[in-house]
Amino acid sequence: EYRDLFSKYLRPRWAKVLLLTGLMLAGIALQVANPQIIRYFIDSALAGGSQQSLIYAALLFLAFAIGNQALTVTATYLGEDVGWSATNALRADLALHLLRLDIAFHNDHTPGQMIERIDGDVANLAIFFATLVIRIFGSLLLLLGVLIALTFVDWRISLALTVYAALALVVLTRFRDFAVPRWEAGREVSANLFGFLEEHLGGTEDVRSSGAVNYVLRDLYKFGRLRLAADRKAGDTGTVMVMLWIGLYALGQVLAFSASYSLFQAGLLTVGTAYLIVYYTDAIFRPISDISNEIQSLQKAAGSLVRIRALVQTTSTLPDGPGHPIPAGALAVEFDNVSFRYGERGLVLQDVSFQVAPGQVLGLLGRTGSGKTTLTRLLVRLYDPSSGSIRLGKSDGRLDVRDARLAALRQRIGVVTQDVQLFRASVRDNLTFFDPAIADDRILAVIHELGLGPWYRALPNGLDTGLEGGSAGLSAGQAQLLAFTRVFLKDPGLVILDEASSRLDPATEQLIEHAVDRLLVGRTGLIIAHRLGTVHRADHILILEGGQISEYGAYHALRQDPASRFYRLLQTGLEEVLA
Ligand code: ATP
Ligand code: MG
Repeated sequence: EYRDLFSKYLRPRWAKVLLLTGLMLAGIALQVANPQIIRYFIDSALAGGSQQSLIYAALLFLAFAIGNQALTVTATYLGEDVGWSATNALRADLALHLLRLDIAFHNDHTPGQMIERIDGDVANLAIFFATLVIRIFGSLLLLLGVLIALTFVDWRISLALTVYAALALVVLTRFRDFAVPRWEAGREVSANLFGFLEEHLGGTEDVRSSGAVNYVLRDLYKFGRLRLAADRKAGDTGTVMVMLWIGLYALGQVLAFSASYSLFQAGLLTVGTAYLIVYYTDAIFRPISDISNEIQSLQKAAGSLVRIRALVQTTSTLPDGPGHPIPAGALAVEFDNVSFRYGERGLVLQDVSFQVAPGQVLGLLGRTGSGKTTLTRLLVRLYDPSSGSIRLGKSDGRLDVRDARLAALRQRIGVVTQDVQLFRASVRDNLTFFDPAIADDRILAVIHELGLGPWYRALPNGLDTGLEGGSAGLSAGQAQLLAFTRVFLKDPGLVILDEASSRLDPATEQLIEHAVDRLLVGRTGLIIAHRLGTVHRADHILILEGGQISEYGAYHALRQDPASRFYRLLQTGLEEVLA
């Protein structure tokens, strides 16, 4: 049932897969044939055969051995090559798939889980291709080949070895099933311990200043105790495993030696054949233990496969639109009875309706948690409304955001979020979002237009200066200004500005005011304002409370109406209420 995955990623590499199979079979044939040469050598040496034939036998043996090594090396190389190139293709596809899944999915899954899917599970699959298939099938075939070859020597011995092989396989596999949970428990306990260490070392300042050192130490002892117990259990199990392994091996040898000795005594075997039996017994032990080892990995790979398939089949709850074009220039925005909830939780937005004409600015106010950021997320379709619709366009003929292509929609709307995310990359890449099509001249022009000239001149390597990830090394205000530059370069028809509530120094504030002014020229604006200076440029004001509109009107009308909430807000001081 997983044939679709396999055929998609293996078919382009069929020639290599075929070659790999051929090499494996040839290698096994050589391994089965080689001891036959030794048998011939021993027997003809004891019978006083000619020196020349002995030398030929020895040379042939050497050639087979070298040939076998060469085959093994090539097969391993090919196996790794096919395994990794196939799974790298799968990795890339999965990463892209994940990026296209909706935000709700991403909220439900931690980045760690994603990495585990794309890297951990896929690596299991690579190991599956690269070694499991070769080892398990190879081992099985080798085992089979040896047992069949032995039938030609003496069927009783072949039967005895078959029973022995089956027994050893069952015992080793059974014990492994018992041992693995203990080993995993050991690993889990260490992972917990390291997680604990990381968390508390990271928070060492808070731990010390709040006097929680003793408390943390007590937890550390607890983790240490757990780890000791789990590690001891895992270690004991490992020792028993090794003993079992050695015991089974010795048992096989004893069996082979005593059987061939008694058959030799009875005159039924030559010395060469006795050697052959001992050799084959030795030779089948490795495949047996390999198989029992790899069955575990096989189960792991199967589990990974199931998870990967499930992920591939997860589709975004935000289907891409049919691609109706979004008009150029400043965009009108219309919310029509929009309600929204995150997952199963209560309504975050309730019956929100408003309109913004092209080129106008809407100031969005409301206490923290009132749904302002959520409203902007619906506009760029990080989520779709639970009911109602959102339309964009010109004064006449608007289109539902769900009818545009996602990429086109997000290209036409520029968003500056509350906390700007910067990437560990050059200033240029941070500004263009890795779009090489944007010329440096244009970037510089925008930088100067937004009043970032002094900041730019202070950069040691100009646009090539590397930035730290997060927003380290930049003040909140500077990060916002960079985000403005990003939006400016995108040249959208609608600008959403989710102002950070943190206070800025007057100089930066002025820079931002200037940048916002420039940004809003010829564009529609939706501004979530925390500061008076920002509110003043709004044409309309919308106050949200608990997800509902509590006031909506023209800026000037509300400002002069002493009965309005906005009027009272201005009286008490916006910053105090909304910060
Ligand atoms: P602030 O002024 O602090 O930025 P806000 O008005 O932007 O607040 P939102 O971020 O829109 O508020 O949040 C509105 C409500 O939705 C809050 O109760 C919040 O807990 C909830 N919420 C926000 N994001 C999510 C999410 N991803 N999943 C579930 N609930 C969320
Ligand atoms: Mg917010």
